[in-house]
Amino acid sequence: MRILCTNDDGYMAEGLRVLAGAARTLGEVSIVAPDREQSATSHSLTIHRPIRAREASEGVYVVDGTPTDCVIMAVNELLGYQPDFCLSGVNHGSNMGEDVLYSGTVAAAMEATVIGIPSVALSYTGDDFEKLEAWTPLLEGLLQQILRRNPFPPHTLLNINLPGAPPGKVRGVKITSLGRRRYADSITRILDPKGREYFWIGGGISAWNGGQEADFRAVQDGFISVTPLHLDLTRYELMEEIRGWNLAL
Ligand code: MN
Repeated sequence: MRILCTNDDGYMAEGLRVLAGAARTLGEVSIVAPDREQSATSHSLTIHRPIRAREASEGVYVVDGTPTDCVIMAVNELLGYQPDFCLSGVNHGSNMGEDVLYSGTVAAAMEATVIGIPSVALSYTGDDFEKLEAWTPLLEGLLQQILRRNPFPPHTLLNINLPGAPPGKVRGVKITSLGRRRYADSITRILDPKGREYFWIGGGISAWNGGQEADFRAVQDGFISVTPLHLDLTRYELMEEIRGWNLAL
């Protein structure tokens, strides 16, 4: 089994190192990752400047682009083959609810899914990233269960969030749906030294909503959250109603 590992925190990130280590027990691993942090770059493509790639060490490629660029470069240029699986992460921070719309980690997994490669995005909801290595045995077990799914459900990726607790305290795995996040005070207005105002997006306090099966409840309760995602955003049940709007000119 040939496994592509990528992320959005950059090729030096501890989460990627731990993920690749766990994946190596399951197959042949290549890493194609951004040269710097690309968090919240979503599914963006670099098309207005050249992209450069270098092999930092054997099987480890560094790309000066987005996570989506990395997956496209891996499959079309750098690896010379289509990997059997793509793993993205382990992200330094959660990717739950609407986060999946902004996340570079999830976008890389989505891009692999678009290409037809079964894919999993993994994120750690705690903040002690230097302790991620302790998750290695648990990740190996989890990935082993997932990677043996053959055929993997088409047009589908798994979005996994690890609870912010020591792996020994994990209570199990829950299959979840995306929750809803509402941010408050997420834009800060600041004055620069010359008295001109500028803005900073991020931070703030988020409040979660969602059903009993929502992702954030699982991790809050100490479970690993596994959300199956698909890429078809069509709202099928509304198609008939919208047809009735008589939009034809
Ligand atoms: Mn990130």
